[in-house]
Amino acid sequence: MADRKVRVQSHADSYGKVTPEEWLLEGESLAKESTDPEDNKYMTFREDFEWYIVSGTLHGVFKGHCTKCGLGIDYKIDPIIFYDERNGEAV
Ligand SMILES: [Zn+2]
Repeated sequence: MADRKVRVQSHADSYGKVTPEEWLLEGESLAKESTDPEDNKYMTFREDFEWYIVSGTLHGVFKGHCTKCGLGIDYKIDPIIFYDERNGEAV
C-alpha cells in the first residue's frame, strides 16, 4: 500500500479525472482506513441538495445538518435564473 499522504494527494488530484463513483469509493476507502482523528474532524456536517422544476422554473434547496453541534441550515434558491455570461441577459 502506498504511503497514505501520497494516496490522499492522488485522490485529491483525481477529482474530475475519474468517474464520480470511483472518486467517492476511494474517498470512503481512505476515510475507513484512517486512524487519525483529525481526518474525520469535519465529517459531521451532512449536506443535501435538491433541484426541482415547477411550471418550467428551476428551484433549488440546500439543507445541512451537523450531528455534533446541531447546526442546521435550510437555504432555498427560488427561482434559479439562467443568464448568458457574454451579456448578462436572462435566458
Ligand atoms: Zn457542528
